[in-house]
Amino acid sequence: MLKRASLGLLGSMLVLASAQAVEIHNRESLPASNPFARASMLPYQLPPFDQIKDSDYAPAFAHGMAEQRAEILTIANHPAPPSFDNTLLAMERSGRLLDRVSLMFFNLSSSNTNAAMQKLEAQLAPQLAAHRDAILLDDKLFARVDALYRQRATLGLNPEQLRLVERYHTNFVRAGARLAPAQKDTLRTLNARIAAAQTAFEQRLLEANNQGALVIEDVRQLDGLAPGAIAAAAEAAKARGLTGKYVIALQNTTSQPTLTDLNDRGVRERLLAASMQRGLRDGATDERALITEIARLRAERARLLGYPNHAAYALEDSTAHDTAAVNAMLGKLAPPAVANARREAADLQQAIQAEGGKFQLGAADWAHYAEKVRQQRYAFDESQMRPYFEMQRVLEDGVFYAATRLYGVTFKRRTDLPMYHPDVQVYEVFNSDGSRLGLFLADYYARSSKRGGAWMNNFVDQSHLLGTLPVVVNNLNVPKPPAGQPTLLSFDEVNTAFHEFGHALHGLFSDVTYPMFSGTNVPRDFVEYPSQVNEMWATWPEVLTHYARHYQTGVPMPQTLVDKVLAAQKFNQGYATTEYLAAALLDQAWHQIGPAQVPAATQAEAFEHAALAKAGVAFGPVPPRYRSTYFAHIFGGGYAAGYYSYIWSEVLDADSVEWFKRHGGLTRANGDAFRSKLLSKGGSVDAMTLFRDFYGSDPDIQPLLERRGLAGASDT
Ligand SMILES: [Zn+2]
Repeated sequence: MLKRASLGLLGSMLVLASAQAVEIHNRESLPASNPFARASMLPYQLPPFDQIKDSDYAPAFAHGMAEQRAEILTIANHPAPPSFDNTLLAMERSGRLLDRVSLMFFNLSSSNTNAAMQKLEAQLAPQLAAHRDAILLDDKLFARVDALYRQRATLGLNPEQLRLVERYHTNFVRAGARLAPAQKDTLRTLNARIAAAQTAFEQRLLEANNQGALVIEDVRQLDGLAPGAIAAAAEAAKARGLTGKYVIALQNTTSQPTLTDLNDRGVRERLLAASMQRGLRDGATDERALITEIARLRAERARLLGYPNHAAYALEDSTAHDTAAVNAMLGKLAPPAVANARREAADLQQAIQAEGGKFQLGAADWAHYAEKVRQQRYAFDESQMRPYFEMQRVLEDGVFYAATRLYGVTFKRRTDLPMYHPDVQVYEVFNSDGSRLGLFLADYYARSSKRGGAWMNNFVDQSHLLGTLPVVVNNLNVPKPPAGQPTLLSFDEVNTAFHEFGHALHGLFSDVTYPMFSGTNVPRDFVEYPSQVNEMWATWPEVLTHYARHYQTGVPMPQTLVDKVLAAQKFNQGYATTEYLAAALLDQAWHQIGPAQVPAATQAEAFEHAALAKAGVAFGPVPPRYRSTYFAHIFGGGYAAGYYSYIWSEVLDADSVEWFKRHGGLTRANGDAFRSKLLSKGGSVDAMTLFRDFYGSDPDIQPLLERRGLAGASDT
């Protein structure tokens, strides 16, 4: 996943916005004692984490908004006729202070928040939305952008400049620049309310995740867990003041990793229920009123902007273009995926009966019995693998090693730079010629101040215009072992590390002039493509044998185990595809409706059931990967009507994997081609044009169908 902390002010495809224009109440500059007052003097303009206090944020935001508003007013009222330089270039340069504080604040409000930051975040959401609207709904400013757009062919612009003109124009129009004054007022109100509700949703979810953690009194109920996992559960309990007990913290998804190993069926059912009930209980963590409000407000905004629903609005600016294309894709994949899942369920039911079980396979049993079947079929045992996936080795000898082989980049650990949390590791990244590329931060451990899931983000965006090199971070949620114990990853976590690093490379290799196009500023249904491609190296033999070494002996993972890992990769694809598609279809269901069709809060759960049934993916043993009330991708912001992006991008990913294989795999030539034709371009060129330049033709869906065990899907 990817989370933009930057306001990406005018580059964002989604508009957050609001009612009151921001007052320019304070024209004098921010006190010099505030660390945000000037660009950081640290290498790569890394934020001076050790100097920033919670109380520095609010004044920096207030001044940052005022400063940019003043800059924008100057541009809008410029006496000279609009030119590329006095309008667009000036806008790209504007808002430096706001950018500095936003990047810092929104990174940390995700990965290391506290009560003060949460309170400020809730206050800021509508203010920032209003700030954005004050710019995007400014008539004079839009008149200048529109004039430039109409003259663009005669302005003598280079391709990146031309694209900047076009993107600004599109963003203004999509943000409502052409609406009548009264409609603009309505839009501002809607934007402010949406921004506030999304923030409230995220904050409640963090609380729901923390409250939903399963507390176990008796260690015997943890039968089946590895000693390390039991120690981690004891540690988690201690951190919550429950010394002597055990706590299984909830991960974001419906299914929980611990379900695989827990032998006690009752505990499994309690854990899954805790997961699936998040946001559905009355009280302080109830998300139902918020999600229905968000869905309704988004639908109203879409109507106002001239679209039948929010999905139609959001998709227009994606590579998919419209709801019909997304529905066709999901509709084509769902029936064979569910059929696969049903076949897998029959196998699991047999495994239950084979050990004398008299019960019907339930969702809480799936992972547990899937693991048994996998062990029988492939003699593959997840717990045998963990000792070969020590976290530091995975990072340096796996993730970094693959990047070095492909792109020639090297990594040097920096321990001299201040960090926001002691668990974060910093590396300086260099090109093969020794030139500096950027900083990479690895923040891999879970903590209660961090939201769930895994994501990449930027602290500093690359831009030639601003003379900045990228500072990027990868966040994971790996349970931290007790002091002195090794961190041994699951294969899934290894894969996630490679995935997120694919986003990191997209940010690090960015080689663009304008901030709007930096790194991962590409359409939502394209951005997952480079990160998914990077997953291929996790199991690439030369890479795997390099990092998968026993943490005690250093002995490489035995080839028999490697072969099993590879053979087992297609296993359980019916489940994986179905749970994903169910979530993607839910996302579309919530966003392909008009305001009147949005259910009341009390009907949110019924709406969800009906949507899954209608899409043909209601299959009890395979619940959606996220239920509506904890679907942060779509109700927290970024991926609304865009969760389909993962499988949409996977078409490009599967094609590219075949391309790498055809061209000799892990080579500098291949890496350099991918980097120069695609990764380095960010959003400076149309996304599908980039893909075709790299791949040589239009995408082909067949490799994806084969990978997912869905080949022949169109015949079913
Ligand atoms: Zn991702």
